[in-house]
Order: sequence, then structure tokens, then C-alpha cells
Amino acid sequence: MAQSLWFLFIITNLVFSAYADQLQRFEHPTKTHDSLSFLVLGDWGRRGDFNQSQVALQMGRIGEKLDIDFVVSTGDNFYEDGLTGENDSNFEESFSNIYTANSLQKQWYSVLGNHDYRGDVLAQLSPFLRKIDSRWLCLRSFIVDTELAEIFFVDTTPFVKMYFTNEAGHKYDWRGINSRKAYISNLLKDLDLALKESTAKWKIVIGHHAIRSIGHHGDTQELIKHILPLLKIYGVDFYMNGHDHCLEHISDTESPIEFLTSGAGSKAWRGDINEKNRGGLKFMYDGQGFMSVQLNHTQAEIVFYDVFGQVLHRFNKLKQLHSSI
Ligand SMILES: [Zn+2]
Repeated sequence: MAQSLWFLFIITNLVFSAYADQLQRFEHPTKTHDSLSFLVLGDWGRRGDFNQSQVALQMGRIGEKLDIDFVVSTGDNFYEDGLTGENDSNFEESFSNIYTANSLQKQWYSVLGNHDYRGDVLAQLSPFLRKIDSRWLCLRSFIVDTELAEIFFVDTTPFVKMYFTNEAGHKYDWRGINSRKAYISNLLKDLDLALKESTAKWKIVIGHHAIRSIGHHGDTQELIKHILPLLKIYGVDFYMNGHDHCLEHISDTESPIEFLTSGAGSKAWRGDINEKNRGGLKFMYDGQGFMSVQLNHTQAEIVFYDVFGQVLHRFNKLKQLHSSI
């Protein structure tokens, strides 16, 4: 009897810890504690082709100008099918040898995209890559805490049912995801708890797939259903994503959330814009480029750049010094 009670205790603890806040947290104190700046890039790894190198060059220039703290990658890091293993030369040919500017020698925080799941997912998540290039950090879901802002990185690919029914005939590496339903449910619980506990001035959520987009892939219904309600409840300021190979700024029509797409790191100019879904649209550019984010205690400035480093769109979001209760 005592033995079975002990067993029950262990099981309960295991279940409890499985549902506790499991999102790994990285502290990234900023230079001044009063401001933060970073670049956001998505859908890039093509060994420099499709203007990837040109975008990288301009990121280096803007990164220098803004004295960035780090770089965020919104996924689809390596085309066409992620990495084949830890020793895949694509890692260096598409990352280390491309983003060579001094200003980009900072930490890169990356999520996985659907193309990354088509390769050896565990290789891309492996600490071994950090031995090759110490800038690299890619995990499924995690938190970067800069004090001024908390950034929640969410693994969105497993949310999209289509990849599991394999309609397009691609193979995905689902190791580590035994049950889609349980994986999503646990992740949502972790995200809910982390957002609830967050006291950061700015809350930013990063995923690969768009919640709102008028590009080729468009809105992701699974994220509208599961993620968007959490963003609204906990007052998230920005949702940033890639997946559609374009740059976009869409304001939510029902809340203060701004949806920002930065998925233009290499191949772009797809040309199929969904003209019927333009509610809240502030800006859309179908070509290559990237985005910068600058934050302080009172305002955020978001800027989109093209392949020449020209500013395409800029906007500010203000925050009251003391938010009302
Ligand atoms: Zn994608």
C-alpha cells in the first residue's frame, strides 16, 4: 500500500512538472537597461542565393547603426529541407558565411519553421551547432527576458494540422512530438502561465506562422483559434512571424495587437496577395528585406527595410509610463 502511494506520488509529481512552466528562459540584459534593439529576419537559408547575401549586407549596416543587442529569426532557417544533420555544410554556407558583418556577431534567437521540420530537427536544435558558430540558438519554444521586454518564442509548426495529414506529400521529422494534441495542449499551458506571470513592459510573441497575413499562406486558422486569445488576454504588444516571404504590418481590428511579418530573408516576389483580407492592413511589401525593433520605456519603433536598406515603412507604438490599473 505504502509502495503504491509512493508510486502515485512520483507519478503526480511527474505530471505536475510536465505541466509546470517548462519554457526555458534566457536572461539577456541590455546594454543600458533603458533600451533594446534587435533585427528580425525570416525564411532565409539559401547559401546566399535569391538576394540572401544582399539582405545580410544591409542587416549588417542597419545593425551597426542601431547597435543591436541580438537578432531574431522567425524560422525556415535552412532551405529546402532544414539540415540533414549536425555536419550539414548548409549551416555554415547559409548562416556563418553569410551574416559576417561585425554588428551581426551577436546572439541569434531562432525558432523552427515548417521547412526546418522537413530535415533533421534534432540537429538544428543541437548544442553542437553552437560549437561551430556560437551565435546560434534554436529551440522549439523558449523565453528571452531583457527586463524591458519579454520575448516568447513559440513552436508553431505542430499547430498546423495540414502537415500531419501530409497533403503536400512532404516528410516531416516529428521526433519529440509523440502526440500533436498533447504537445499543443502542454505548450499552450506553458505559454499561458508564462504570459500571466510576465511583468515586462513589452510583451512580444514570435512564431513562424502568421496569425494575420495577406500573403501566399495567409492567416493560420489554428493560431487564430489557440494563440490569439492568449495574446489578447495578456496584453501582448506584437506578434512577429515569417512563413510568408514578404514584409507586413497589420493592426488587429479588435485589440491593440500589431501583427508583423518578416519572412523576406531570401526568396520573395511571390505575387499572390490576398486582396480580400485587408482588414487592419497598414503595410505590405512582396519583396526581400527585414525589420528592426527599438524599444524603451515609453515607445517602440518598428522599421521595415528592403534589399537596399531603404526604409519602406516605419511606425511607433506608445506606452504610458504608468499603466492604469
Ligand atoms: Zn514556412
